[in-house]
Amino acid sequence: MSNRITDLEQLKTLLDKARSRGRNIGFVPTMGYLHDGHLSLIRTSASLHLFTVVSIFVNPLQFGPNEDYDAYPRTEDRDFALAQNAGADLVWFPRKQDIYASQSETTVLPGSLAHKLCGLSRPAFFGGIATVVLKLFNIMGPCHSFFGEKDYQQLTILRRMVLDFFVPVKIVACPTVREADGLAMSSRNVHLKPKDRHLALSLIRSINMAQEMARAGQLSCSQIRHSLIEQWPAGIELDYMDFRDDTQLANVERVEPSTRLFVGAWLNGVRLIDNASLWMQQTTRLQDSLS
Ligand code: AMP
Repeated sequence: MSNRITDLEQLKTLLDKARSRGRNIGFVPTMGYLHDGHLSLIRTSASLHLFTVVSIFVNPLQFGPNEDYDAYPRTEDRDFALAQNAGADLVWFPRKQDIYASQSETTVLPGSLAHKLCGLSRPAFFGGIATVVLKLFNIMGPCHSFFGEKDYQQLTILRRMVLDFFVPVKIVACPTVREADGLAMSSRNVHLKPKDRHLALSLIRSINMAQEMARAGQLSCSQIRHSLIEQWPAGIELDYMDFRDDTQLANVERVEPSTRLFVGAWLNGVRLIDNASLWMQQTTRLQDSLS
């Protein structure tokens, strides 16, 4: 049985107890409305025999003034049951006043990694994420913390933050979990209208097409981008379609082992993002041609 906690002091007591029994903490921060993507992170932590703690907190600091903080789906009982079934030892629903005390004023300011991709249309977003994650790390003291590659820019910024602030935690990247048709799972998909569903697949279609082109030997990012833009459908607003390296997130001109394609879009007010490496297909092609 998992513990369901709201109180911060009770959380600390339970974490101390787990540590005194020799358990290391594995931490999975989420905003709830859990789906299989979140559950894969919880299962990975539990499979490493870590004392697995899930936090469920819709973080106000990472939402802009006209964004969907109020509309963000919140389903605590359902989330607790799902997290417990996936192997969480403890599920924590922090109170807003515990995370952001009224006199609290210090925030984390990420650098250049936050000033591109999603950071261009959501300027407060990554500072809000870095701030809450650092607070949660300091409360929790995890040895490992698990994040999804679906939010690759977030993952990169948090990796940088723990290096810059000497936070003793290992960030573990987990693969993107998708619906059967390829759509990257996201809590916000619940807001997609059934009639828009096929348009939501434009992101993964673009990624698949780019992987195919790279596999066939087209390594020029601008050529690939040109073809992707040509087939991008009307009705879904493209925010960005960038070819970048996987650590500095710098733009690249040719597909290399570190190249990922990042796509962001808006579909009738719903934010959609996706990304993937373009190289695995390419290495397969090279291996094919050698065999
Ligand atoms: P969120 O609740 O959206 O803040 O996400 C919490 C964690 O789950 C983050 O590390 C996300 O990257 C991860 N996550 C969200 N969706 C997916 C997915 N489809 N596959 C894998 N991880 C995911």
